[in-house]
Amino acid sequence: MRTPLPRTGADWPQVRARMAEYASGDVRWREGKTAVYVFNAGPEIERVQKEAYALFQSENGLGPAAFPSLKRMEEEVVGFGLELLHAPAEASGAITAGGTDSITMALKAARDFARKARGLKGPLNIVIPRSAHPAFDKAAALMEIEVRRTPLRDFLADPAAMGDAADESTVMIVGSAPCFPYGLIDPIAALSELALARDLWLHVDACVGGYLAPFVRMNGEGIAPFDFELPGVRSMSADLHKYGYAAKGASTVLFRSADLQAFMVFDFKDWPGGRMATPTLAGTRPGGAIAAAWAVMNVLGVAGYREKQGQVTAARKRIQAGVEGLGFRVMGAPQLGLLAFTRDDVDSLGVWAKLRERGWFTSVTTEPRGLHLMLSPVHAEVAETYLADLAWALDAVRATATHAVEARYS
Ligand SMILES: *Cc1c(COP(=O)(O)O)cnc(C)c1O
Repeated sequence: MRTPLPRTGADWPQVRARMAEYASGDVRWREGKTAVYVFNAGPEIERVQKEAYALFQSENGLGPAAFPSLKRMEEEVVGFGLELLHAPAEASGAITAGGTDSITMALKAARDFARKARGLKGPLNIVIPRSAHPAFDKAAALMEIEVRRTPLRDFLADPAAMGDAADESTVMIVGSAPCFPYGLIDPIAALSELALARDLWLHVDACVGGYLAPFVRMNGEGIAPFDFELPGVRSMSADLHKYGYAAKGASTVLFRSADLQAFMVFDFKDWPGGRMATPTLAGTRPGGAIAAAWAVMNVLGVAGYREKQGQVTAARKRIQAGVEGLGFRVMGAPQLGLLAFTRDDVDSLGVWAKLRERGWFTSVTTEPRGLHLMLSPVHAEVAETYLADLAWALDAVRATATHAVEARYS
């Protein structure tokens, strides 16, 4: 639809008022009733994001020579990620625009490694568990790589099935820490062994857990090894704009060595503009996103993250116990901030729709049909409200289902 630009500009206060009007139909995530799309670590962190972003909103991470500030911040943020995820000394990485970008670039590196270092020719494939994120399919579609999704076992990646699906043309195998649909950490140690035994590139997708799991472990929860600690892991994706609480547009892609990362870089000079080497998919890279990530990480520190992530796991445990009390079955044994639950006698999607009437905007699973929550620190405060509203929605859906049955048989 074509929309003419206003003939004359308006005053900023008027334009701003119209933005508020546009936003009036949006979910009210600051009240804590949204458990998807937004990671809410409270107003203090939101202010840090906003101010840090604004300070560097015009600066461009494409030009490290012009902006050594951003280069330094990126190196430090990547360094924090490498340290938290037990990377060896020769490891390295980059900030990208998001998880999809990190995954795409990790696959680009793995593919180029297969072609250039191992001399692979012909069609290529990747082997991923059924629960892996669609970003892998998108990246593979872009590069014309076949995707082999393997069945799960108890909602987790099945290393045996993945081993069967992999062959000489497999450029990457994937495990999630955790996967998005069920919030469960795949058996990464077994995948690492498979990768080492067969010389496969193992990518661990820790987009939603990379900046959460290390602190949950520090808080005393038993999280099995899932990162570079395992020798078969060659690359990882970990989003800053999820449980890193950074402003949107920030993720990290990390490699076991700088040599592996070199396969990600696109270095080009056959045009009249001179040499252009870009580390990630982007050309221009928003300085604000890099600065906001750096600022939030420095404001929170280990103690701050431990506190925020403790609130996330407390909310998850409370809600988990509550939904089980209401007769739902939790899928697997979640350890982080995501959980999915279902019951056989009621359509969870009906319950989901009913919850929207009370202002809850959450997510669902389809295998099986279930309710899905991605929790933030703010949810520790509203867990009881959620459970009360869930009980109400459940009763309402059951009542209508009973009515429908009675209407049919009377
Ligand atoms: C969010 C997510 C992604 C994709 O990240 P975007 O930032 O949305 O592109 C990939 N994998 C998992 C497990 C995720 O949760």
